[in-house]
Amino acid sequence: MLKLNDTELLRTGVFINGAWSDSAGGPAIPVYNPATGQVIVEVNGADREATVNAIEGAADAQKDWAARPAKERSAILRRWFDLVVANSEDLARILTAEQGKPLAEARGEILYGAAFFEWFAEEAKRVYGETIPSPDRERRMMVMKQPIGVCGAITPWNFPMAMIPRKAAPALAAGCTMVLKPASATPLSALALGELASRAGVPAGVFQVVPGSASVVGEEIVTNPLVRKITFTGSTEVGSHLMAKAAPTVKKLSLELGGNAPVLVFDDADLEVAVKGAIATKFRNMGQTCVCANRIYVQDGIYDHFVEAFSKAVGAMKVGDGMQEGTEQGPLIDTDAVLKVQEHIEDALANGGTLATGGKPHALGGTFFEPTVIANASADMKIAREETFGPVAPLFRFTEEADAIRVANDTEYGLAAYVFTRDNARIWRVTEGLEFGVVGVNTGNTSYEGSPFGGWKLSGVGREGSHHGIDEFLEIKYVCIAH
Ligand code: ADP
Repeated sequence: MLKLNDTELLRTGVFINGAWSDSAGGPAIPVYNPATGQVIVEVNGADREATVNAIEGAADAQKDWAARPAKERSAILRRWFDLVVANSEDLARILTAEQGKPLAEARGEILYGAAFFEWFAEEAKRVYGETIPSPDRERRMMVMKQPIGVCGAITPWNFPMAMIPRKAAPALAAGCTMVLKPASATPLSALALGELASRAGVPAGVFQVVPGSASVVGEEIVTNPLVRKITFTGSTEVGSHLMAKAAPTVKKLSLELGGNAPVLVFDDADLEVAVKGAIATKFRNMGQTCVCANRIYVQDGIYDHFVEAFSKAVGAMKVGDGMQEGTEQGPLIDTDAVLKVQEHIEDALANGGTLATGGKPHALGGTFFEPTVIANASADMKIAREETFGPVAPLFRFTEEADAIRVANDTEYGLAAYVFTRDNARIWRVTEGLEFGVVGVNTGNTSYEGSPFGGWKLSGVGREGSHHGIDEFLEIKYVCIAH
């Protein structure tokens, strides 16, 4: 049984037009705790009709929401932030129960997510226009920015909470309304946010939560002409499918897709900083994030020391139920995730890799897996090309800086990259040479709501967070006035 201070946060209905409905027409969605394999609760799924109602309700609500002064929208977002912070312990427990990550990471995710409400509550007041010096005496020219309209959001299971404020906060700040379909594995965090939206005074229809199947609810959101913008986080495969589905109605899109993050550790790096940073980026959320290191390239001179120190630290990580304090690695989300991890390990070992630590399912059973390090990794392994999305770190060896940059860029993805070096000139050369949207230097943690997050190449389009984040939800109107 999931223990909460406020049991009203555990919602199982569909949230449309400010009301909870237990009969939204779609099949029930059982939500599993990946640490125990048991069902926590069943959530009511929406069908197509309920999704259309949610979209139409959001379209109706949008006019009044956009007409409110930015300061008023800001105050409501700020209240939503305060409520998320005040309820962070319950929200973290809901998150760990449905997703598996350690409670400490879940607490971090709740506060990280909440910070987007705070940030965009402020940005709501700073949607500035422009005046343009006129080329003649008769006309005057200006630019105004206005909300794009109803936004559809589709979010993944790896960050069930934080991916929502990253989308909802800038959308609502801009004067848009939102219809959200959370991942079916993790709808509870989204529904809890719906409950807190209502308490914060977000008007009915402005934030709708419709759990349900991708092919019905998701499909309606991406094809309905009332929806003017899609904001999605998930796989590149699904992202490009959504792009095609949204094409006939020419929707604006923000896509945060897969990654294949390289880590470059140079001989002149601080070994301790590099080990700590590489672990932070590789093993966050058991390796199940799109910015997780997938390929760790270590220069010759430091390679053996790095393998030893890194493997020792990884081997010492505490694996267990995320609800137990002190757990550093929880279970993987499902058995498919375990199969992919095993496939990548087998392939790497068959192609000359050696196990430095881990390598097999954990003695705890279920979807628990040993944090794994593979030494002597090489370019022809699957793990070098495909996103593993699991707790396996392959260590590659390199000699020349230029080669390291070349292999780091040798991927169709371009989300995050990491560099460890103490040489300033090298920091400039390498960061300028990397084809990635986010580069961390001497750190494995780049997250901040005030910074722009997004990918190059097949990792997506658009940016979340920072002042750039709100532009994704705004249209530009150029006005030319003759007199
Ligand atoms: P992940 O498995 O990393 O969460 P996915 O891309 O499979 O990534 O899923 C991300 C989100 O996209 C989920 O909410 C999922 O239900 C949704 N989704 C998957 N396929 C479709 C689709 N064809 N149409 C709309 N939404 C989809």
